[in-house]
Amino acid sequence: MHDYKAPPALLKDRIIMVTGAGSGIGRTAAKTFAAYGATVILLGRTISKLESLYDEIEDAGYPKPAIVPLNLEGAAVKDYEEMAMTIEDNFGRLDGLLHNAGLLGQLTPVELSSPETWSQVMQVNVTAPYLLTRALIPLLRQSDDASVIFTSSSVGRKARAYWGAYAVSKFALEGLSQLVADELDDERHNVRVNSLNPGATRTNMRSHAYPAENPNQNPTPEAIMPSYLYLMGPASKGITGGQFDAQPKGATKAMHPGQQDL
Ligand code: NDP
Repeated sequence: MHDYKAPPALLKDRIIMVTGAGSGIGRTAAKTFAAYGATVILLGRTISKLESLYDEIEDAGYPKPAIVPLNLEGAAVKDYEEMAMTIEDNFGRLDGLLHNAGLLGQLTPVELSSPETWSQVMQVNVTAPYLLTRALIPLLRQSDDASVIFTSSSVGRKARAYWGAYAVSKFALEGLSQLVADELDDERHNVRVNSLNPGATRTNMRSHAYPAENPNQNPTPEAIMPSYLYLMGPASKGITGGQFDAQPKGATKAMHPGQQDL
């Protein structure tokens, strides 16, 4: 899947939501899905970023996107339910959901960590994807071939000291991914659910986590898109409950000795 070559119309006529679409990996994923024919629903908290992406997508001649401004930290259950109703009214179904938005929080030992930051990270990284998935499952069921991707991390599969709530939230997300995959694995097999670890990628979050690192050492979000297209498009039909890596195993280490993933 790392060198997957997607056909140009891979996502034609698909309705795909991307959370955290305003910057980083989410922005590139949303634009890439649109380039392959999808109508993308851009969810994020900073409206100006969503608007500029909207303009980029329109200017490129890709299908007209939609914007959903939502701060995942403060959103209430009814916000998700209203959003689902709006999507139902406008599109009638959802074919893809990339849970990408995430918060790094503090890198610090548990005994020194802030309980407030813990709650904030768990809210954005776990509770929000849970509430969003809960509200959107009926719309995913309306699709003939839907794909849900939860964005994980290497510290969500093997914890490392000082990664705090971020690591624990990603473990929880892996659990949520497996749980929903199992629940939706019915006789129709029309909704698949997987987790994807981007690996070290050149974004703001990566720079915050590794301030001393040369950002140019890491692949750009564009470079990891083949894996996103593979999991979002029909080539991965029937694959569910899996844990994937957007970069080949060991690629980061081979390129930059001593460097680790987020
Ligand atoms: P960025 O920090 O660049 O982007 C994070 C995105 O999440 C932004 O669009 C941000 O919005 C959005 N977001 C944060 N908080 C909220 C909130 N409360 N409500 C709505 N949206 C919010 O990070 P990356 O692109 O690097 O990360 C994307 C995903 O990939 C994350 O889940 C991260 O954990 C994961 N990941 C990244 C790795 C890397 O090396 N980059 C490695 C492993 C995993 P805004 O721009 O408005 O702040």
